[in-house]
Amino acid sequence: MDAACILIVEDDAGIRDTTHAFIGMSGFEAVAAGSGEEALEILEGRAVDVVIADISLPGMDGFELTDRIKRDSNADVILITGHSAHYSYEDAISQGASDFLFKPVHFTELLLRLKRVLKERNLARERGRMLEQLQTLATTDGLTKLFNARHFYNQLSLEVDRAFRYQRPLSLLLLDIDHFKVYNDTFGHLEGDKVLVRLARIIEGCLRKLDSAYRYGGEEFTVILPETCGEEAETVAHRIKQRIAEEPFCPLENSKVMVTVSIGVTQYLATEEITELVRRADNAMYQSKQDGRNRVTALLSFSEFPS
Ligand code: GH3
Ligand code: MG
Ligand code: MG
Ligand code: MG
Repeated sequence: MDAACILIVEDDAGIRDTTHAFIGMSGFEAVAAGSGEEALEILEGRAVDVVIADISLPGMDGFELTDRIKRDSNADVILITGHSAHYSYEDAISQGASDFLFKPVHFTELLLRLKRVLKERNLARERGRMLEQLQTLATTDGLTKLFNARHFYNQLSLEVDRAFRYQRPLSLLLLDIDHFKVYNDTFGHLEGDKVLVRLARIIEGCLRKLDSAYRYGGEEFTVILPETCGEEAETVAHRIKQRIAEEPFCPLENSKVMVTVSIGVTQYLATEEITELVRRADNAMYQSKQDGRNRVTALLSFSEFPS
């Protein structure tokens, strides 16, 4: 790991130089500034881990500097003051500083505080990464790496709210692999899994930026298409159906097996429940099955809905 970068902000040139030298000798990358304004300029140009700042500075003081740092960068701040009577530890912490020291500063103590702040900083970073990983695990299907069914319902709910509030179009696709049981029974479950993974990539490849694909069930996928009316969604569905039908699979040596999907398309109708929307997509998909599979069926207007 690179050495942490420490920025010293101090208007007293003597203190600034000795602190700068000490921090540098302690194994950190040290940078110095004579004012808050200069410090902000440095922060704009480079990544800094910890800022050690005097509170009394000409121009912007240490508190205001802390405020700006907390707003615009993710550096930690250690504040230093000579006026022990004027400021309290609480003042500094509530301002966003990570620690507070009185002058004259003993370098051994400064080093201890600095190391503690850096350690907490690393822990916080690691915790953030772990949360991110957990979040990914909770929303991802392990096999296809598409989003899972739970995330589908969460996202659909958000998109439905949005479509309703701003009166925007929203469409939904539901895909089911045709005769997939036969494929599995013939070539084995592992070969079937490979089909699921490849279809996931094909589906993703047919989508635009706002669209999102989900593994809805065993061999079923859904696609949410915000800002998309039913007719446009139907075009996307045909593209997916076509791309899949053209993709050869080789479950056995020198074999070439084709796989097809049946797709249902529908569009959100203001005020309807999510379950209603999903059920209609499912009905449309089922219609594609009945009509012979490898097909797209769209249920877009009231007159088309089965009663
Ligand atoms: P249809 O055209 O009517 O959809 O026929 P189908 O055989 O695809 O439908 P059915 O519902 O009878 O069978 C679904 C099959 O999907 C059964 C199961 O073996 C397979 N399947 C479900 N999940 C997985 C999975 O994770 N991996 C593999 N390899 N197969 C799966
Ligand atoms: Mg000063
Ligand atoms: Mg199915
Ligand atoms: Mg099926």
